[in-house]
Amino acid sequence: MTYPYADRFEVHRQLPEEGVERDAVLGELAAMAAAEDPTWESGQCSGTMYCGDHDHYDFLNRAFAHFSHVNVLQRDMCPSATKFEAEVIAMTLDLLGGASLRGRPGGLVTSGGSGSIAHAVLAYRDANAARTRRPNLIKPETAHPAFTKAGHLFGVEVRVAPVDPVTTRVDLDWVAEHIDGDTVALVGSATNYGYGTIDPIPELGALALEHGVGLHVDGCLGGFILPFGRELGEPVAPFDFAVPGVTTISADTHKYGYALKGTSVLCFADTALRDSQYFYQTDWSGGKYCSPGVEGSRSGGLLAATWAAMVHLGRSGYRRYARAIFDTARAMRATVESHPSLRVMGEPTFLFSFTSEEYDVYHVNDFLRTRGWRLNGQQYPNALHMAVTRPQTQPGVVERWREDLADAVAYAQAHRDEPARSGAIYGGVAGGWSDEADEFIRAVMAEMMDEQLAVPPGL
Ligand SMILES: *Cc1c(COP(=O)(O)O)cnc(C)c1O
Repeated sequence: MTYPYADRFEVHRQLPEEGVERDAVLGELAAMAAAEDPTWESGQCSGTMYCGDHDHYDFLNRAFAHFSHVNVLQRDMCPSATKFEAEVIAMTLDLLGGASLRGRPGGLVTSGGSGSIAHAVLAYRDANAARTRRPNLIKPETAHPAFTKAGHLFGVEVRVAPVDPVTTRVDLDWVAEHIDGDTVALVGSATNYGYGTIDPIPELGALALEHGVGLHVDGCLGGFILPFGRELGEPVAPFDFAVPGVTTISADTHKYGYALKGTSVLCFADTALRDSQYFYQTDWSGGKYCSPGVEGSRSGGLLAATWAAMVHLGRSGYRRYARAIFDTARAMRATVESHPSLRVMGEPTFLFSFTSEEYDVYHVNDFLRTRGWRLNGQQYPNALHMAVTRPQTQPGVVERWREDLADAVAYAQAHRDEPARSGAIYGGVAGGWSDEADEFIRAVMAEMMDEQLAVPPGL
C-alpha cells in the first residue's frame, strides 16, 4: 500500500508551483473513486458502507455543498446551523426513547462514534470532578476501544469487565463488584461492534441507579437501526432512554443514519451532564472563547447533510432499509448455522459473528477473500464478523454468500492442519503487546499515513 497510485498519477511532494487545472484534478479524483467503489458495491464488504446508494450520496453532497464553507462556531453568521444541530439532536433523542425522560434532555453532534464516546467520558469526568480526582468507568470487554482511548486521553481509568463466552454479554456480577466510590459511569453496548449483541441494559441501569453512577449506552452502531428493527417486530432487547438509569447514548449518523462520514450524535438524558464539559477561556487576548466540545471549527456542510439525510428518509425510509437489512442478516446467518462446523456468537441482530471449534475460522476468511468478500477478523476466539448493510440487500448477494461460504468451509476443512494466512496478520500481537509488536504497529501506521511521502527527501 506504499505510494498508492504512484504508477498512474503524479506524486506531489511539494505544492505545485502552478496549480493543476480543475478538470484534471477532478479527473484524477474520479478515476481513484471509480477504482475503489467496486470493492464494496458488490455487497461483499462488511459494514463501513452503510448506505451504498450513489443517488443518496449525490443528494447529501448537494446538501453539503450549500454549507461546506461554513464554520458553525460562528453562529451569528449561520443560524441555520443552530436549526440543523438542534433538530438532529431532537430527532435522535425522540428515536431513542427521549419521550420517557423527565429532565431536560439534550445532545452534541460530534465527529463520529469515537468523538461521541470521548465527549461522554469527558462529561462524566468533569461532572464528577468535585467527587473524585481518580475517576473510573467500567466497560464490557466487547465495548469499543474508543472508551479506552478516551480514558487514556482524559485520565479516566477504564475497568474491563469480562463477558459470558456463550452469550457475549457483560458479566453483571463482575461489574457490581468493581463499582467503587470513584466510579463515574458504566458502559453497555447496543450493539457491540464485534458480535452485534446487546448487553443487559436494564440490569446495568439498575446497578447505575443503585450506586448513583452514570450509564452510557454505546448505540454508535445500533442507534439508528435497532429502534426500527423493534418497530418491525424484531427481537431487540431494551437499550434506550426508556430504561431507567441510562444517562447518555451515542448513535452514529454516519453509520445506519445514512449521513456522510464525520458525524455522530451524543444524547444526554439531562443537559446538566453535557454542560459540565464545555470549554471556555474568557481571558484570552484573542477574545472570549468558548466551544461546546473538543473541536474548534466545525463544518456547516456536515450538519446540513446529516439533517438532510434524516429529514429526507423519515421514519418510513429508515424502516424500509431496516426491514431489508434484518431480513438479509437473518438469511446470511441461517447460512452460517447450516454448517455444523461453524458457530454464531451469542444472539446477534443485524450483525453476526461466527467462529469454529473444528478449525481456525481464518481459513474461511482466506478463501472468502479469493471470492471478493471482506469480513472483519476478530480474536479470543478467532471469529469473523459481518455487519449487514444496504449493499448486502441487493439481489443475488445472499445466494453468492451461500455458495461461497460452502466452498470456504470445504477449503477450511481441507487445510485445517496448516496455519491460516489471514490469521498471520495478528501473529505479531497475538502474545500481547511485546516490544516487537509495538514497533510493528508503529511501522504499519507510519506507512499508512505515508510518513515517507510527507517528508521531503534529504531532510
Ligand atoms: C463504529 C463504532 C464506534 C466508533 O465509531 P467511529 O465512528 O469509528 O469513531 C464505537 N462503538 C461502536 C459499537 C461502533 O460500531
